[in-house]
Amino acid sequence: MSIDVEFEPQAGLKMKFSATSQKDVVDKMSAYSEIFGISQCQACKSKYGIRWQTRNVTSTPAGKKKPETFTYRELVCKNSECRARLSFGSLQEDPESLFPKRKDADGKYLPNGGWVVFQGKKQGGEEVPASNDAADASF
Ligand SMILES: [Zn+2]
Repeated sequence: MSIDVEFEPQAGLKMKFSATSQKDVVDKMSAYSEIFGISQCQACKSKYGIRWQTRNVTSTPAGKKKPETFTYRELVCKNSECRARLSFGSLQEDPESLFPKRKDADGKYLPNGGWVVFQGKKQGGEEVPASNDAADASF
């Protein structure tokens, strides 16, 4: 059986997908809501809104000799006083899917639901997180 679903995880973002069962409908709506249902920065909770950002960073990971380019997909707070970011990762077993990074490298939940406020810049232009290191290259 094929079920055609029209779904609006938030106002102004409509999507269509096909599902094979009721469970498949719920699983897909759940996955899309987790990514596309986010509408507010959890660091400042302002009404300025958020936007998507994709950026490529080339660096040499620890223990490797060749530089690699990593693509970071993030939500960015539009409040100029905040500019917090929520980073997204992808699982090795499903590299086309995203999940919000709400935990640090030690598996502990980050404050503000993973929204990290960055302050200042290091040499080389890479920004420094104010409270924790969300700019790891694990995806
Ligand atoms: Zn914010």
